Amino acid sequence: MTATGISDNGHQNGHHHPVSGGPIVQLPTAFGDFITQAWTDLATGAEHLAVSSPNPPKDGRAPLVRLHSECLTGDVFGSYRCDCGEQLAYALELINEFGGTLLYLRGQEGRGIGLANKIKAYALQEAGFDTVEANEQLGLPVDARCYKAAAQILAEMGLHEVRLLSNNPDKQNRLAKAGVRVVEMVPTEVPSRDQNIRYLQTKKDRMEHRLSLDTHVATVPAAADTFDHEQD
Ligand SMILES: [Zn+2]
Repeated sequence: MTATGISDNGHQNGHHHPVSGGPIVQLPTAFGDFITQAWTDLATGAEHLAVSSPNPPKDGRAPLVRLHSECLTGDVFGSYRCDCGEQLAYALELINEFGGTLLYLRGQEGRGIGLANKIKAYALQEAGFDTVEANEQLGLPVDARCYKAAAQILAEMGLHEVRLLSNNPDKQNRLAKAGVRVVEMVPTEVPSRDQNIRYLQTKKDRMEHRLSLDTHVATVPAAADTFDHEQD
């Protein structure tokens, strides 16, 4: 690190975050045929993955964008302790249908505290604390995630205006600060379950997530009144 820090490279307000994109390749999946590109955060070494529909949005609207924070237990094992896995699947279904990009952000496990700490927080939750209190008990931030690299990747992909697939208004604010304009928030609420209702209630009450927690059908994006989200 230089003594002069990061302000002497010609960029203002910390908007520029160094990232490097690799080749774009095909990624056929259970959710549809996508294209994908790996991006390296040159400041942290974290490797992220952009998964995009091969065609631009049909209706000329801003592309759907999901910033999905890695959640090993939810994404890979389908854990019902959180709603990450179901939100990931739902976002991929929507992006396949309507066009856009899912940016899979690694190194953001447990809202940035890491996998081992997340499991420790689960142990505290089993002792009666909620997800916010558990992080506080561990002396860890409630949300340690940083979206500067994500915003820079979106900018370099030419995604300056997006329809953000998220229930989290804070994500919108953080992206705006990093220079990406969110023209619409598209909800990604998936049906709650007995195993995650307390977690989701905490996200709603203590982190201001926009969740109704009383519907059994995810809200449909404006362009797609007939889209049906199937839920097993
Ligand atoms: Zn999760």
